[in-house]
Amino acid sequence: MSKIILTGDRPTGKLHIGHYVGSLRRRVELQNSGEYEKIFIMIADAQALTDNADNPEKVRQNIIEVALDYLSAGLDPSKVNILIQSQIPELTELSFYYMNLVTVSRLQRNPTVKSEIQMRNFETSIPVGFFCYPISQAADITAFKATTVPVGDDQLPMIEQTREIVRKFNDIYGETLVLPDAQIATDEASRRLPGTDGGAKMSKSLGNCIYLSETPADLKTKVMSMYTDPDHIKITDPGKIEGNTVFTYLDAFARPEHFEEYLPDYSNLDELKEHYQRGGLGDVKVKKFLLAVLEETLQPIRARRGEYQQDIAGVYDILKKGSDAAREAAAATLDEVRAAMKINYFTDEALIAEHIKKYKQ
Ligand code: ATP
Ligand code: MG
Repeated sequence: MSKIILTGDRPTGKLHIGHYVGSLRRRVELQNSGEYEKIFIMIADAQALTDNADNPEKVRQNIIEVALDYLSAGLDPSKVNILIQSQIPELTELSFYYMNLVTVSRLQRNPTVKSEIQMRNFETSIPVGFFCYPISQAADITAFKATTVPVGDDQLPMIEQTREIVRKFNDIYGETLVLPDAQIATDEASRRLPGTDGGAKMSKSLGNCIYLSETPADLKTKVMSMYTDPDHIKITDPGKIEGNTVFTYLDAFARPEHFEEYLPDYSNLDELKEHYQRGGLGDVKVKKFLLAVLEETLQPIRARRGEYQQDIAGVYDILKKGSDAAREAAAATLDEVRAAMKINYFTDEALIAEHIKKYKQ
């Protein structure tokens, strides 16, 4: 079976380094591996509207930002289709059919949706669209027959939900849909990067982000004011690594070459951690090292962004072409879905013949 990728992001802000380690850098590797027949990268504007219905301008403005972030992170439009979700109406149609296969209590059990409802103070007034977004996500994944979905670990419950829908659909209507697998980062730090405030997850909606397009000056300010170990007051104090965001970021980003180049007194992260825990290593030194590592990572991304920003019409053209190709793929799946669900009246010659026969005098 051919391998197909679907993944995406909500246009609720610029992309941050949590996206980068959780999904984006893996996407670029997979794109370049040549192992995938098709790759669909979706800007999920319809999903973003489920909790931003009153602010369509925010969603609209951020589509180009996310597209620029994709291209500058190294996604190559000659190898991937970048699409805008709302431009593929087949996705909405498929969501509607899937709604029959999912119970309200099943949606209520989804831990990611539960915590997002809390975060948005939706407890007493959850928009139905927001509540159902895991169903729409299942439609996005399956419409493209995706086998592989590279995501951060907050998305695992969505992939599980998708797999349940696929099994149920195939069970009732016959083998039609493809069962997808999530692909998450191998290291814990990258699966869910915390915010600069030490919060559990860096998230556009929480304002605790380092953006991919951060200027060197802003990057420095953010890194130097990051949350560390609040009990590590004097340099000589022993410090804690657990929950220390600076070390978590180093887990996700630092490589041995970075030590050689910027911190040659240590050969790897374990040695640095060990010194910090023993006492005698100050936060400022560790933060300066992290800053150098992040600057090295973000510099080429920032430079490529600068180039694409000079050709915005070209970027919209990439989005249009990606959306057209995606629509074609989704439409082909929908033809199969409608046939399986027996709602393909005008193309089902057997049905018409049967009814002719039924009423023939
Ligand atoms: P929002 O606050 O609007 O939900 P977000 O920052 O959570 O935005 P999404 O667009 O919801 O970003 O997520 C897109 C992808 O990035 C998903 O695969 C998600 O798992 C991944 N991702 C988001 N934040 C992180 C993070 N902090 N660490 C690792 N992966 C992340
Ligand atoms: Mg999110």
